[in-house]
Amino acid sequence: MTRKFNFSAGPAMLPQEVLEKAQSEMLDWQGSGMSVMEMSHRGKEYMSIAESAEANLRDIMTIPDNYKVLFLQGGASAQFATIPLNLLAGKESADYVNTGAWSKKAIAEANRYCSVNVVASSEDTKFTTVPAFESWDINPDAAYLHYTPNETIGGLEFSFIPETGDVPLVADMSSTILSRPLDVSKFGMIYAGAQKNIGPAGLTIVIIRDDLLGKAMDICPAMMNYETHANADSMYNTPPTYGWYLAGEVFKWIKEKGGVAGMGEINKRKADKLYAAIDDSDFYKNPVEVQSRSWMNVPFTLGNSDLDGKFLEQAAERDLVTLKGHRSVGGMRASIYNAMPEAGIDALIEMMKDFEKQYG
Ligand code: PMP
Repeated sequence: MTRKFNFSAGPAMLPQEVLEKAQSEMLDWQGSGMSVMEMSHRGKEYMSIAESAEANLRDIMTIPDNYKVLFLQGGASAQFATIPLNLLAGKESADYVNTGAWSKKAIAEANRYCSVNVVASSEDTKFTTVPAFESWDINPDAAYLHYTPNETIGGLEFSFIPETGDVPLVADMSSTILSRPLDVSKFGMIYAGAQKNIGPAGLTIVIIRDDLLGKAMDICPAMMNYETHANADSMYNTPPTYGWYLAGEVFKWIKEKGGVAGMGEINKRKADKLYAAIDDSDFYKNPVEVQSRSWMNVPFTLGNSDLDGKFLEQAAERDLVTLKGHRSVGGMRASIYNAMPEAGIDALIEMMKDFEKQYG
């Protein structure tokens, strides 16, 4: 068996230990005589799996007691609409920061429900910078402020948490959650699709402060009302049971590896060496300002884009796959989430050096 180093932006690699454990429990979960996929979500076995996953997530992220953790479906994209439906709370306007493709999608959807005030945008630098916080035009009466701490496509990551005072801060953490320690208490709500740092696609996690619940618009469907799910411990309907179980195994794995602090140390080292390899060469380039470079998604271009195909071919020969950049940016993108082993980064850097020697 060969496990490739998969640099996909998502669905992304999962820890091998987690996959092996899931394999060993596939047909018979701990003497239950059935697979987790076959269990009733209301049975005592599954309830123990669900509760332990939530407890472990609360533990690794140090989630305060006045926050609910919801295990939902619909991906982060469903949240783009769910957020205004729940959080406008009678107000007419919400603040959004535009730092790239995912911010824009969130803004487009919110525009259907409220007046969107774009408080800052880095479109003029082609999303290679994070707008300086001092320049943000925050509305103190906004229902909430939404931003995307890590733009998966542009590889742009905030190096600070915005201070929004009484305006609830809402963050799309799809591609950065669990990558390092985070002060959850600074946020009104955090959400993330699972398929990068959490588990398989199909599960979406929402972490929301209690006081933001119960204010959904009348037209908000029950399935999109956070209160519905909070009151039912995410079991209002059948949740994505297998994804929830696997996420729980990933949370245990993170704990065993030193928690999010341990992840942060490894992730910083991984990102630092890849950016150093790019910066030390005259052949590869990353366009993002240094202090806002993502630890998780590293886009880079080659000196000559005609060589892109050759680069991908040679990378694949060394089992380094899914490196093709997003069509809007071009070049390459290495997504290096928690489960990407450091050996994968080392192998990529070695391949890049060899390729540059040949063609640079
Ligand atoms: N936000 C960000 C930052 C993302 O990276 C993605 C997926 N790549 C999404 C939202 C959309 O997520 P989903 O496919 O789960 O709807």
